[in-house]
Amino acid sequence: MSNRVVQGRMVTPERLAELVEGERPMEAEDIEDAGRECPDCGENVLQVGYMPSITEFVTGYKCQECDWAESDRDWLDRVRSLRVGAGRAGSLPDSTWPHLSG
Ligand SMILES: [Zn+2]
Repeated sequence: MSNRVVQGRMVTPERLAELVEGERPMEAEDIEDAGRECPDCGENVLQVGYMPSITEFVTGYKCQECDWAESDRDWLDRVRSLRVGAGRAGSLPDSTWPHLSG
């Protein structure tokens, strides 16, 4: 466990994810330093990876000193759009692949 102090309170990874997400996640990883400053107050920002559901993985960011929080949840969406893009690439003409036409 990696409990950290956020806004004067000791929080577990699950609790930190809950602060970011608004709901308790299924699972949360250890809390880490995000290596960035809060855009609101300039204090240290923590990050925690969590799964709100079985198909979603979110990286949550939370300022240690104020209410600022952010979540980066489009990671799986990006993977999905890459798969769609790969499907379109499959319909490109053969000349795109010189080793096949030569
Ligand atoms: Zn802050």
